[in-house]
Amino acid sequence: MKIAFASGKGGTGKTTVSLNLALALSDVQLFDCDVEEPNCNLFLGFELEKVEDVICSVPVIDPEKCSLCRRCSDFCRYNALAALPTKVLVFPSLCHGCGGCTLLCPEEAIRESHRFLGLIEKAKEGSSPEFYRGLLNIGETMVSAVIKKLQKHIDDRKTAIIDAPPGTACPVIASIEDMDYCVLVTESTPFGFHDLKLAIDVVRALKIPFGVIINRYGLGGSKVEEYCKTEGISVLLKIPNDRMIAELYSRGIPFIREMPEWNEKFLCMFEAIKSQLAGGKEART
Ligand code: SF4
Ligand code: SF4
Repeated sequence: MKIAFASGKGGTGKTTVSLNLALALSDVQLFDCDVEEPNCNLFLGFELEKVEDVICSVPVIDPEKCSLCRRCSDFCRYNALAALPTKVLVFPSLCHGCGGCTLLCPEEAIRESHRFLGLIEKAKEGSSPEFYRGLLNIGETMVSAVIKKLQKHIDDRKTAIIDAPPGTACPVIASIEDMDYCVLVTESTPFGFHDLKLAIDVVRALKIPFGVIINRYGLGGSKVEEYCKTEGISVLLKIPNDRMIAELYSRGIPFIREMPEWNEKFLCMFEAIKSQLAGGKEART
C-alpha cells in the first residue's frame, strides 16, 4: 500500500505524522518527497549514501548544420528554444527533456547533452524504516522529475509512506497521483482550514481516497472537525496541542519514541485506512 501525507500549507505536522507512522510499522519504506527542503532525516539521523543522479537531457544546436527553419522553437511548448534570424537560443533551465526538438530537426543539427537536476539518497543498509530522499539542486525548477525518480524506488511488496511537499502545486500532484491513499494533515486554525479545503479539491480531482488528521487539536476552534463531519470525510487521528509533543519536535525527536502510547494510535489509524480501502468506503469524491 502506498500512502501519501500531504497538506495544503506548510508547518501542519505532515513530516512528524509520516515519520511517526513509519516508526510504528515494520517492513516499511519512507520517502521524503519534499525535495526542495527534505527534513525527515533531521529526525532520523541516518547515514545516507547516494543512489543515483537525476538528469535531464537538453538540446545543443550545431550552428553549422542549422538552417534556422524554426521548427524546433515552434514545437517547444516550454519556450526553451528561441529561433532568432541568426541563431537558435537554448534556455536549458526551461527544457523538460522531452526530446521532441531533436526528433523534429530536419537537418539533424541537434544533439542531446545532460543537465543534473539533483540526486537520490538512501539510508545505509539495515536502517529501519528503509529511508529514501530526493535532493533538488539549488536554483533548479524541475521538482517533479526528482520526485518521480525517487518514487521509482518504491517496493510494491512493502508499505510505502510518502512525505509530500506542502501546497497544492505540481510537486504535490507528482508526489500523490499514484498513491492508494492520501492523508491530509491540517490544524484547526483559519489558515489550516482554508488550505485543507484546497488540498481536498486536489485529492478529489485525482480521485484518491483520503482522510484527515487534525494536528494541534484544540487550537483555534472546531471548524475543521465540523466541516469533515458535514462532508463525510474520515478524521483518522486527532493530535492534541501538547507541550511535550512540541518540545520533542524542537529537539528533533519523533514523539512516538518518547510517548509509546501513540504507537497503538498510529497502528489503529493504519488499520482504519486499510479497512476504508478494503470496504471501498472512501470520502466523497
Ligand atoms: S527537449 Fe523538449 S522541452 Fe527541451 S527544448 Fe527540446 S522540445 Fe523543448
Ligand atoms: S529545427 Fe534544426 S534546423 Fe530548424 S531551427 Fe531548429 S535546430 Fe535549426
